[in-house]
Amino acid sequence: MGDIIKLLPDHVANQIAAGEVVQRPASVVKELLENAIDAGSTSVMLIIKDGGKALIQVVDNGIGMSATDARLSFERHATSKIQKAEDLFNLDTKGFRGEALASIAAIAHVELQTKPENSELGTILKIEGSKVISQEVGTVSKGTSLSVKNLFFNIPARRNFLKSNQVELRHITDEFHRVALAHPAIAFQFHNNGNEIFNLPISNYRQRIVNVFGHKSNAKLVPVGEDTQVVKISGFIVKPEFARKSRGEQFFFVNNRFIKSPYLYHAVANAFEGLIKSDAHPGYFLYLDVDPASIDINIHPTKTEVKFDDEHTLYAILRSTVKHSLGQFNVVPSLDFEKDQNLETPYAYKNKGADIPKVSVDAAFNPFQETAQKHVGGKTYQKDRNVNSKAWESLYVGLDTEIDNGNEFSTIAFESEAITSSIFDDQTESVETKTTTFQLRRKYVVTTIKSGMIVIDQSRAHQRVLYEKFLKNITIKEAVSQQLLFPLKLSVTPSDQSILHEIKESLHTIGFVFDIATEETIEITGVPLLVSESEVGMVLDQLISDYQMEISGESFSQTDILAKTLSKTLSVKTGEVLDTASQIALVNDLFACKEPQVSPFNKSVYVTITENDIDKKFI
Ligand code: ADP
Ligand code: MG
Repeated sequence: MGDIIKLLPDHVANQIAAGEVVQRPASVVKELLENAIDAGSTSVMLIIKDGGKALIQVVDNGIGMSATDARLSFERHATSKIQKAEDLFNLDTKGFRGEALASIAAIAHVELQTKPENSELGTILKIEGSKVISQEVGTVSKGTSLSVKNLFFNIPARRNFLKSNQVELRHITDEFHRVALAHPAIAFQFHNNGNEIFNLPISNYRQRIVNVFGHKSNAKLVPVGEDTQVVKISGFIVKPEFARKSRGEQFFFVNNRFIKSPYLYHAVANAFEGLIKSDAHPGYFLYLDVDPASIDINIHPTKTEVKFDDEHTLYAILRSTVKHSLGQFNVVPSLDFEKDQNLETPYAYKNKGADIPKVSVDAAFNPFQETAQKHVGGKTYQKDRNVNSKAWESLYVGLDTEIDNGNEFSTIAFESEAITSSIFDDQTESVETKTTTFQLRRKYVVTTIKSGMIVIDQSRAHQRVLYEKFLKNITIKEAVSQQLLFPLKLSVTPSDQSILHEIKESLHTIGFVFDIATEETIEITGVPLLVSESEVGMVLDQLISDYQMEISGESFSQTDILAKTLSKTLSVKTGEVLDTASQIALVNDLFACKEPQVSPFNKSVYVTITENDIDKKFI
């Protein structure tokens, strides 16, 4: 057999490399911004069109490139940033692999304009899919402008895989935040579809955070500072009372590079323990300076992960520093600092037991009243008696003959915590419903059907009920909105503001009526029926963050995402006690749904156990 191994042609190798470097437009933004910073720029402009699918352009005033360098910069492994392997251990630049431009040029239409300070004329270079189309000498301003058009034009599968423009813009904005927050000494501008979104002047760290997240954020920040031999820590934590349900404002920078680190996150979360609710996340902007030789940033192609030499020490120092700031700035009345002096082992709190969720039950709940509302753990379960399922009722056998009435059954103590509501003493109601249910482990509602029994996941069932209700409201465009007597003012960050703007119409269709009052406040005049006034802030927060994260990849539309989020946020949760009447209402509502068998997130809502199944167990 002859030789069969061949070297891949460059353009193929570049396309393969591009798959790793460029996942989406935001990856291009990151690489280009980083190159601009490495070039010593003091002013950088980012221009985006159609979520980066049509155009991504970065214009800087850095050192620029000579004509030869301009051409070389698109070769693979071409970099000015390292020369020998040892340089890898002393990096102070963002890039070093020399792959980004080669990869980007392999999968897009690229135009580079660049001129070093001392040259008269600059270079204009066009490359499409690794092929040089033209190289000209021309009048260009000092620095570099790189525009990337038609990303993935030659890889349709990747192009089709891209999300909506809004979602891609969201990812781009995240990258922009990360770079801008790490470099307050550089001015940044960001234009999207011709509109200026950010104009950040040269400033200090605190001002930069405030310029990015809005002036309200200033009052939320508590400074953090510590200087040890291992690490220098500076930056800010967000006061515990402003902790959010979403993981939005969490930024670690190591040597001015944004990184993700579940381990360091844990250190901060640990310091906040007891100060914020268990389902809230601390906010922080923490800048760590370490000896470049003590870290390895090379372990991930997109370089957001870092390996530290001495993780344990770093963990302990970080935690005690954050704790110290929380105490020092009177954020909390008293804190025990003694414990931290000996830098105890990380993850110590793992051994602690889990908190039992607190549940408040409104025993006076009457599901058969038109307007009855039940507050369970802060949630509102509202019964809509108009939705009644004849189909479901026909599944029942004549329970009134087999078991005298539901009441007797429900008093059998299957679960010590089972609560029988006084409502159920109302014999006529219970007989009429002919439904027997009980709650298992505060998680499942069990009920009988002709062929046996079904076990229903209470939370998923309620999600399904709410989801269909919201979708129905949306489709008939007749959202039930409660008018607020006094408009509610909520402060939001500029980026939240822009999301709210994007989804305003959809929010309207589900019952949120609001106006953008000022740059950082919105005025709410109506809320969906199922949302209480005190929940509005929390619900909107969740809606924004889910929308940002696009909770379910396969959502078809904004409204679908919103309906999913609302159903998730407002549903009864595992761990909540449901009285018998609520259980019955839930069962009836569930089986009045179009798709009772799956939750909005495609999880099974119930399982059926037939008499046959049970019989088999007794053989
Ligand atoms: P890396 O950043 O890893 O070196 P890139 O492919 O991103 O690799 O860039 C290759 C080279 O092109 C860089 O090393 C740098 O010399 C040059 N370069 C890229 N962008 C710029 C820019 N905006 N200004 C000046 N030089 C640049
Ligand atoms: Mg680079």
